[in-house]
Amino acid sequence: WKHAPGHFRALLEMSRFHGDKVFLVYEDERITYEEHFRRAATLARRLVEEYGVAKGDRVAIAMRNYPEWVVSFSAVLAAGAIAVPLNAWWTTQELEFGLSDSGAKVLIADGERAGKLAGTAVPLIVTRGEVPEGARSFADVLGEAGADATLPAVELSPEDPATIFYTSGTTGVPKGALGSHRNVGQSPLTVAYSLLRTVVRAGKDPAESAGQRRVTLLTVPLFHVTGCFAVMTTTMFSGGGLVLMYKWDAGRALELIEREKVTVFSGVPTNVWQLLSHPELGKYDVSSLNSLGYGGAPAPPKLLERITEQLPSRAPSNGYGMTETTALAINNSGQDYAARPDSIGLPMPVVEVKIADPLGDEVPTGEVGELCLRGPNVILGYWNRPEATAETFVGGWLHTGDLARVDSDGFVYIVDRAKDMVIRGGENVYCAEVEAALFEHPAVDDAAVIGIPHDELGEEVGAVVRLKSPVAPEELQAFLRERIAAFKVPVRFWIREAELPRNPGGKILKTHLRKEVLGS
Ligand code: ATP
Ligand code: MG
Repeated sequence: WKHAPGHFRALLEMSRFHGDKVFLVYEDERITYEEHFRRAATLARRLVEEYGVAKGDRVAIAMRNYPEWVVSFSAVLAAGAIAVPLNAWWTTQELEFGLSDSGAKVLIADGERAGKLAGTAVPLIVTRGEVPEGARSFADVLGEAGADATLPAVELSPEDPATIFYTSGTTGVPKGALGSHRNVGQSPLTVAYSLLRTVVRAGKDPAESAGQRRVTLLTVPLFHVTGCFAVMTTTMFSGGGLVLMYKWDAGRALELIEREKVTVFSGVPTNVWQLLSHPELGKYDVSSLNSLGYGGAPAPPKLLERITEQLPSRAPSNGYGMTETTALAINNSGQDYAARPDSIGLPMPVVEVKIADPLGDEVPTGEVGELCLRGPNVILGYWNRPEATAETFVGGWLHTGDLARVDSDGFVYIVDRAKDMVIRGGENVYCAEVEAALFEHPAVDDAAVIGIPHDELGEEVGAVVRLKSPVAPEELQAFLRERIAAFKVPVRFWIREAELPRNPGGKILKTHLRKEVLGS
């Protein structure tokens, strides 16, 4: 084994040493580390030799959470090309945007996505389902993945681009976040630091913690950084198993935890909330589970309370991250989290934090400002968007667009997203705070706070809630008045029977919601 240039290639080559251990589990399929390596190396060679993919070319991946997603991602990076994971929930038009925005040279898609993009001029490789005219099947392209499979030769430096992940588009049009091989290679190390820190801060010796094989349940899409980096590359690094879910379903998750003896549950806060709310939680054997990791969207303190109550002794961990930080950047877990349930925790040892005023200067400790981050996990910039890049990456600092404060012990608190705040008569109302207070009410199942245009005040506070049991808006208001200042209490409630619209990252689609209830 020789050290391959480019951090991801090193990770991939190293993973082969896990040999016969199972890496990917999907329904009844099991793929070992050796098999995954062979397939990825072979596909990398085919991309180079048959499709003329060269260093820096973009290869799009449009698939649900199938094992071929992971094989394709590994192959594209190993070939020195840039992987462009597209959102599998996107419409034809959005998928076409992803293809043309990235200038993809090849597209690897599952049958469903291939069907939506059948007319594309981009050479198409189809992993599962029907293969449209002119396209080739994955199996045909791959052929025999022989035991002598090796990675194609390519010169790579850690700063070379490796990935384009589109941001969720919660605050506007998705932007292509351009990540480097260093960013990808860093991702499992960031998670390892976080685990290590939890153990050390609990006064334990990390060298002694051994035993169970790590098996992680992936409940979120691979095409977002949480799934790809906080979970997939991290699993590859650890030699553990990764159980893929085609789509999130709490009941199915319980079955898989029991069947595969899952030790780590990973997802967004909503996944955990729904797992805990599942009526059959008590019927399944979930004794293998030892940790619950979530992030990507605000986790109300009530969630921690429920975990402690319903699944005690499972280490909960709240991770803050962005597409632009290659997933994890700040993390709260263990006793720190128990002591500060409303914090996202301490910055990862590799990450620097600055809370800045609108000019970019640091504010005094404890004051609210924009959260800015710097470190080896921060991406290179946005693909083909020089202006957005210049606005967001200033002097080496990533401006997150999140409002936060840091306490005297260095713990970070997300106050709100800068674009999600309601300004009522000049007074800032942070939606996240009002939502967290609403979650405290036993009848509330889900909640989203929005601004209602108001002539005099500019905006007023409104809330869309989904209920577990009936409750009058007046009662919710009285409940909130005991917890938050009167001006923050919603003046109007919309009771909704359907689930609140969320993106796969667990974030409520407030623009949709606002349109729905306000018509604008
Ligand atoms: P776009 O930038 O296109 O509008 P987006 O910001 O929603 O989309 P992501 O990169 O998926 O796209 O999300 C990052 C954001 O998610 C952060 O800026 C923050 O607002 C939120 N977030 C992530 N983790 C947490 C967390 N643990 N607690 C609170 N908020 C979080
Ligand atoms: Mg963003």
